[in-house]
Amino acid sequence: MSDAPSNHFTHLECSMTGAVLPNDRAQNLSPEGWPLLARYDLDSMKASADRDAIAARDGVCFPGFWKWRELLPVKDDAHVTTLGEVDTPLILTRATADKIGLKGALLVKDEGRLPTGSFKARGLGMAVSMARSFGVTRMAMPTNGNAGAALSAYGAAAGMETYAFCPEDTPDVNVREISAQGGKVFRVNGLIHECGAIVGALKEEMGWFDVSTLKEPYRIEGKKTMGIELACQLGWTLPDAIFYPTGGGTGLIGMWKAFDEMERLGWIGPERPKMFAVQADGCAPIVKAFEAGEEHAPEWVGAHTFAAGIRVPKAIGDFLILRAVRDSGGAAIAVSDARIEAARDLCAHEDGLLLCPEGAATLAAAQQALADGQIEKDARVMLFNCGSGLKYPLPDTSKWLDRTQPITANLLAD
Ligand SMILES: *Cc1c(COP(=O)(O)O)cnc(C)c1O
Repeated sequence: MSDAPSNHFTHLECSMTGAVLPNDRAQNLSPEGWPLLARYDLDSMKASADRDAIAARDGVCFPGFWKWRELLPVKDDAHVTTLGEVDTPLILTRATADKIGLKGALLVKDEGRLPTGSFKARGLGMAVSMARSFGVTRMAMPTNGNAGAALSAYGAAAGMETYAFCPEDTPDVNVREISAQGGKVFRVNGLIHECGAIVGALKEEMGWFDVSTLKEPYRIEGKKTMGIELACQLGWTLPDAIFYPTGGGTGLIGMWKAFDEMERLGWIGPERPKMFAVQADGCAPIVKAFEAGEEHAPEWVGAHTFAAGIRVPKAIGDFLILRAVRDSGGAAIAVSDARIEAARDLCAHEDGLLLCPEGAATLAAAQQALADGQIEKDARVMLFNCGSGLKYPLPDTSKWLDRTQPITANLLAD
């Protein structure tokens, strides 16, 4: 490698109680049952870590988010598990902005360009690399599809055995992708938290390390790189608002953490974007808790939405999502499946960018926030397209032609 990154990862901290735990072994939740957060010696890093020198690192030696090694937990190069990550582009969707009446900038961070076609690559790339450093060889998780796909891919690259349990109606491509990459995959007649219960019940007997969302500390560290990367791409500034499709909330919590760490390093100032947690109205536990002024979000009963990635009835990090949203002056917003589909069509037709349903949900929510005056007309708004639009079933509007009959222009009309 061109320059050796120094490691500043010191310990893990309980996100609820502040209790300190050692970082020298594989850990799941804190003794009290809360998510753990990785902590770094930011003061020692501040003296040595030059943001611009790090940003300029060679993308072959340090692909994508791996360039931010000083702010990541992996100590040893030998444990870095890479599939050719990239910095995901910020796409300016001018025509869509125009249609929704936004005079500022509408930027889409297109995470579908990552390995396995979703931002789950960030979290699982990090979690697998850390688990590998602790000698873990068997991992399991519940998944709505993309996380399982990333686990199986990075797991294969690290020589591990992986198990994924998904709701039976998980998009077919994800289920097949998992097994194509050597993961064991099971369709379950239940939702993701019910799949999680299977992992919990069998992990002792099966010798699994549980990599469920927020039940291990490193998926957040991978996802936080979205916050560092976007700041870097915007010349070390942050947008006015971020719309994030919220399931377990890993990315929203992670970015909020990254903003804090970067401010303490002097990389950015104290300004923060308004954080909007976006959910589907058929599964909106965070929105309900936000509106009720609650700190925790009870399980949502009867969850349904075609945006599979945000169909999460119960999030263990609910309080961390709600704190970030409230501290930022943002909001939690629910949108209907019909509005999600309309937003997907709008952006694809106007700007040629095919969003996944969860990404489209962020556009629908931004449209609503603009109409409700929650964001200014001249705001710089960032949406997260968290996965490739190609991973989802798309409506077929093609017409059939019989070439043995005369093909006339009027057959081509709408
Ligand atoms: C996992 C996932 C989400 C939700 O991400 P969290 O950070 O867990 O809230 C949203 N969209 C897609 C496509 C996903 O795969």
